[in-house]
Amino acid sequence: MRVLGVEGTAWCASAAVHDTETDETFIESDAYEPESGGIHPREAAEHMGDAVPRVIETALARADGDIDVVAFSKGPGLGPCLRVAGTAARALAGTLDVPLVGVNHMVAHLEIGRHESGFDSPVCLNASGANAHLLGFHDGRYRVLGETMDTGVGNAIDKFTRHLGWTHPGGPKVEEAAKDGEYVDLPYVVKGMDFSFSGLMSAAKDAVDDVSASEASGGPSAHRSDDGTPVEDVCFSLQEHVFAMLTEVSERALSLTGSDELVLGGGVGQNARLREMLAAMCEQRGAEFYAPEPRFLRDNAGMIAVLGAKMAAAGDTIAIADSAIDPDFRPDEVPVTWRANESV
Ligand code: ATP
Repeated sequence: MRVLGVEGTAWCASAAVHDTETDETFIESDAYEPESGGIHPREAAEHMGDAVPRVIETALARADGDIDVVAFSKGPGLGPCLRVAGTAARALAGTLDVPLVGVNHMVAHLEIGRHESGFDSPVCLNASGANAHLLGFHDGRYRVLGETMDTGVGNAIDKFTRHLGWTHPGGPKVEEAAKDGEYVDLPYVVKGMDFSFSGLMSAAKDAVDDVSASEASGGPSAHRSDDGTPVEDVCFSLQEHVFAMLTEVSERALSLTGSDELVLGGGVGQNARLREMLAAMCEQRGAEFYAPEPRFLRDNAGMIAVLGAKMAAAGDTIAIADSAIDPDFRPDEVPVTWRANESV
C-alpha cells in the first residue's frame, strides 16, 4: 500500500509517501520562518497556501501518481493552517478516488517511534512545540498520563528566546548557547504526573534581564552585562531544569504502567541533552529507550503517512463529510483501531 500523508498543523507544510511493502518513507517539507516574533497564525496559513501544493506535487511525482490512500493531520493545531492542509487532502483523495484517513498529530508523534523501534507497548514522551505530555496505552486508547499545566515545552523555550530577541525557533539556539553555560538555580515544578513551565520561564527571563538588548540580539554568542546572569548559564540551567522535569515524569510513567519501553516524539526531542537524560534514566531502570531520527521528530508528513497506513489497513477511513479539522483534537479521543491486527 502507498499512502500519501499531508501535514500542516502549524509551521511545517509537508507531504510524504510511505510504502508499506518496502517500509520506505519519502518526505518533502517546507518550513514557515517568521521574520520576527513567534508563529503568526495568519502568516503560517498563507505559507500553507503557498507550500502545501508544492510539497504534494513533489511527493506525487516521487510516487509516480500511484497512491492508494490519502492521510492528513486532522488536529490538534492552528485552525487556519489545518483548514488549508485539510482542504488539500480532501481534494486530493476525491480527485484520486482513494480513501481518506484523518490522523491525530500527537498520536502520530508517538506511533512513529513505536513503528521505528518495533517496541510493543511503550510509554511515549511527546516533547513538541505546542504540547508536552506522557502517553500510555490502556483499554483501547492512548491515555494522557501526565502533561503540562500551561504551555508546550518548545513554545516555552521559544518565548524565552523571543525575550532575548533571538529568532524563531529558539530551541536549537538555547542548545548551542548551553554548551558554554554553568548551573544556576531556577524553579522546578512537577506536581504528581503534571508539570509547569511558566514560572521557570519567567525566572529565566528575569535572570537575563540585565543583559543589554544589543548584546542579546547577537544570539548564542551574546555576552552578559556586569550585573546579569550570563545568557549561557541561563540556557544551560533552563535545559537542565526542563529536561529533568520531563525525565522525572517519564520515569514515573514507566513505573506506574510497568512498561519497560520509552519512545520520544516531537521537535524538542532533537535536543541531545534531553535524549541523553532519558537514555540514562532508562538504562538505570533496565528499560529500553528509542528516539526517532530528527526528520521524524519535528513536524513531518512521514509520521502521518505511516500511521495513516496502519489506520487504513484497519479500515479506519473517513467520509469527506466527516473530515472536518479539530484544532483541539486530544490523543485520548482516538479509538486505537490498528493495534489489534498488527505484529508491531
Ligand atoms: P506540535 O507537534 O505540538 O504541534 P510544533 O508544531 O510547534 O508542535 P514541533 O516540530 O514538534 O512543532 O517542534 C517545534 C519545537 O521544537 C520548537 O519550539 C523548537 O524551538 C523546538 N526545537 C527544535 N530543535 C530543538 C532543539 N535542538 N532543542 C530544543 N528544542 C528544539
